[in-house]
Amino acid sequence: LTVSFDGFKALNELTLQIEPGELRCIIGPNGAGKTTMMDVITGKTRPDSGTVRFGPKLNLLALSEPEIAQAGIGRKFQKPTVFERLTVFENLELALAGDKSFLRTLFARRTTAQDTRIYEVLEIIGLARLHQAQAGILAHGQKQWLEIGMLLMQEPELLLVDEPVAGMAPQEIERTAALLQSLAGTHSVVVVEHDMDFVRSIAKRVTVLHEGRVLAEGDMDQVQKDPRVIEVYLGG
Ligand code: ADP
Ligand code: MG
Repeated sequence: LTVSFDGFKALNELTLQIEPGELRCIIGPNGAGKTTMMDVITGKTRPDSGTVRFGPKLNLLALSEPEIAQAGIGRKFQKPTVFERLTVFENLELALAGDKSFLRTLFARRTTAQDTRIYEVLEIIGLARLHQAQAGILAHGQKQWLEIGMLLMQEPELLLVDEPVAGMAPQEIERTAALLQSLAGTHSVVVVEHDMDFVRSIAKRVTVLHEGRVLAEGDMDQVQKDPRVIEVYLGG
């Protein structure tokens, strides 16, 4: 994939492959192209050249942003966007809607399967006891988990998560690690994160991006020992 902005190559012949059920961490200095890569996968940015495939057949470049989400790719941005005035439960309920109307969803009768899914997701994200709480009173970490839960309502196959632990307390970071690890296997999970201790705690395979391409890839120990990685990212 190549993406240029006014002649500057944010992605420069990037090649990356994620296996089904894999948990992959992507690291790299600011400006390396991490967010641009997620923008291309989700259809927000169109590349100058290259291909993006989801599974063996699906060509994501032929799909619109909503079609890509529908195909099973969920993205969590850094800043939580939960509805503060609604309860935890209602936030998950709304997320069932996808692109359907907000009000229609709140007043529509839920099916048993939908109820079951909401309770399942409440357990997964560890907020079952708080399901009637207003989302506005949740701690920062709990809001982030709720937002991951909202993504899970759509049952995505692939989750893209941008800096999930920024601003979190140590205990919240630990629970986020456990949550993302529990999602791997049944989902593919791609995590962009700067917190190296966090990456070390969850990563099997780490990709280091630099200047729009892959600088190194391997397990955390291999990557941390790589002289090129030390020079551009870990050194100092
Ligand atoms: P990262 O997420 O790794 O920090 P980004 O993907 O955000 O890197 O950015 C890669 C490079 O592309 C940066 O130099 C950034 O300034 C540039 N860039 C990203 N988006 C745009 C845009 N919409 N217009 C112009 N330049 C952009
Ligand atoms: Mg970024």
